Amino acid sequence: KADGRGRLCFFEPEMDAKMQARRRLEMDLRRALVAREFELFFQPIVEVRSRRVTGLEALLRWNHPERGLVPPDSFIPLTEEIGLILPLGEWVLEEACAQAARWAGDTTIAVNLSPVQFSSRGLVDTVERALRESGLDPRRLELEITETVMLRDTEATLSTLHRLKALGVRIAMDDFGTGYSSLSYLQRFPFDKVKIDRCFTRDLGQTQQSGAIIRAVAGMCQGLDMRTTAEGVETEEQFRALAQKGCIEAQGYLFSHPRPAVEIPAMLARLSQFACAS
Ligand code: C2E
Ligand code: MG
Ligand code: MG
Ligand code: MG
Repeated sequence: KADGRGRLCFFEPEMDAKMQARRRLEMDLRRALVAREFELFFQPIVEVRSRRVTGLEALLRWNHPERGLVPPDSFIPLTEEIGLILPLGEWVLEEACAQAARWAGDTTIAVNLSPVQFSSRGLVDTVERALRESGLDPRRLELEITETVMLRDTEATLSTLHRLKALGVRIAMDDFGTGYSSLSYLQRFPFDKVKIDRCFTRDLGQTQQSGAIIRAVAGMCQGLDMRTTAEGVETEEQFRALAQKGCIEAQGYLFSHPRPAVEIPAMLARLSQFACAS
């Protein structure tokens, strides 16, 4: 009995504190959107064969006045719960397209879509507007979605994917190999690219087994006419091992950490020195 009472006294204030912290974060996020505290960072995606940069992925950051740079995993889930992901995601799309339209050439820009955003009514219109207002060639925009999207009502998902593709944009499946990874998704949905999760890249070049999955996924995707990108390439050793696995592209700290837009020209200049002359 003493235990029970003790527990009650212990948990209640803690729960309350959690709720309050959540409530504070929620208000802080709403304020941040108005105060324009969000910023996009960009990470290059490199073609394995030529070592040329083929695209950049936009990754969201929150420039918090007190907490500094806050990574997306610590605030996106709450923005999804409270619906703030819709205006935030719209801003991400507009900002990413506007940035990409300023870069010369045919470099693609990859934008992550939340499942909540994907199943919202306005998505296709939002994408269309971001393209129109920025003047970006639709073929340069790539939308990254995760398997969570596939788990929902497949007819609606399929119809949204086809409407997006009709705009001319490309679709990538992100973090492939985590979660459910049903192979039937690859057959059913019109992906242009599959991004192999970084847990498969980690041991590349170290163990023989590590490359087997990448090789298999890369081969399968090639047969399905989809490109593959290995995520989380951190070392030259991993990159070299990757070159023998048939994977088309690589992304990771080896080439660059995600960096602010102002640093892109310098980043691209540095990386162009490593590109093969062919
Ligand atoms: P993601 O789309 O799979 O993005 C790749 C994540 O891996 C990024 O984390 C990136 O910084 C990190 N990364 C890249 N290379 C390496 C590497 O070599 N080693 C390691 N250990 N990590 C690497 P970040 O920026 O913290 O983003 C985390 C996740 O947040 C993203 O995973 C994506 O799912 C989500 N996210 C980011 N921006 C947005 C956005 O604008 N909208 C939505 N809905 N989600 C976003
Ligand atoms: Mg992504
Ligand atoms: Mg990923
Ligand atoms: Mg991820």
